[in-house]
Amino acid sequence: MLTDCFLYQIICIFILGLIMGSFYNVVIFRTLSGESIINPPSKCPACETPLLWWQKIPVISYLYLKGKCYFCKKDIDIMYPAVELLSGMLFVFDFIKFGFSLKFFFSIVVISTFLILAGMDIQSNKISVKYTILALIAAVLFNYNNLTDSALGAIIGFTIFYLLKKLSINFFNKEFFGDGDIYLISALGAFTGISHLLMALLITLLCQFIFCMPAFVKNILETKEYKIFYYSAWFIISYILFFLARIYVINITILGKIFIFLNIIVSMFLICKYLFSRIKKSEISLIEPLSPAIFLSVFLFLFLF
Ligand SMILES: [Zn+2]
Repeated sequence: MLTDCFLYQIICIFILGLIMGSFYNVVIFRTLSGESIINPPSKCPACETPLLWWQKIPVISYLYLKGKCYFCKKDIDIMYPAVELLSGMLFVFDFIKFGFSLKFFFSIVVISTFLILAGMDIQSNKISVKYTILALIAAVLFNYNNLTDSALGAIIGFTIFYLLKKLSINFFNKEFFGDGDIYLISALGAFTGISHLLMALLITLLCQFIFCMPAFVKNILETKEYKIFYYSAWFIISYILFFLARIYVINITILGKIFIFLNIIVSMFLICKYLFSRIKKSEISLIEPLSPAIFLSVFLFLFLF
């Protein structure tokens, strides 16, 4: 039966995704430590004992070992199974969307590179510009049937973030993101094209907002400025309404849409004003690395559009 065959393909693709995720972990940690990706064989980062074959099975080994090294009993970083699972899901969703096609291959390269960069950023706050260029090239190839849209997306994405970075240095004496992030946004623009760049940036912003939440909430509790809670709730509710209206084309009148959009802008302005005043006053950082948000945004983008 056709459905059985499809299910079988999905399972194979998922396993392939898990195996590739295991390879992405090697790329993340070895790029950061400057080791070769091929040699030597995998070892425990804590006690450096080479791993046995059954300790290298994606996700399953982690669960079986209860998250601890078999030899030294030190905790294994939760990022290993997380990257493997994300990669497995990514392969499946991508396959459902594109089937076996060039689009499938190039989008896998783009999003996998974003995943690797997000992992590096979380581990060390550093990303490799080499990989952002790989993502950019694969993103342009992904849009081989619409190269102008893709090129414009890359250029505009780059320009917006380049200017934002200059502004943040001039006005706040602080870099809100690194050079790597600018290239990453450029790759994002090449992937979504200029026609979807604004939507992709909005999704990125929302993801970033969610990632900054823990530090943000802690700061509000310490300073007791609860007003910002209302702004945030207002922001999130308007945002969700905006996306529901966009995706499910709910019958909201033009006036209603303008009202929701204004709500987003005003609450965003109030939140930014608050954040900037906090950043100026103290040294606590409320800003998390940007690449995990970009990865999540591309992941979501793939399903929604
Ligand atoms: Zn160990």
